Amino acid sequence: MYLVAVDSGKCESCEECVNVCPQGVFRMVDSKSDPYQTSECVFCESCIGVCPSEAIKITEM
Ligand code: SF4
Ligand code: SF4
Repeated sequence: MYLVAVDSGKCESCEECVNVCPQGVFRMVDSKSDPYQTSECVFCESCIGVCPSEAIKITEM
């Protein structure tokens, strides 16, 4: 199981992580990415690849 975290201070509100994640992990809340379904993450790393500001960190639990 993976823990997905977004540094809201780094998030540029581009929504690319929301669009690219095949598991629907992310949603936007107050113009920032919120990884509210972190338990669905399969560690494909797509979100890390598209994020322009390295705001997303994923750790194995
Ligand atoms: S690593 Fe893949 S499955 Fe996990 S949050 Fe990022 S895009 Fe979604
Ligand atoms: S891809 Fe990165 S900058 Fe863009 S909304 Fe997601 S966390 Fe924020």
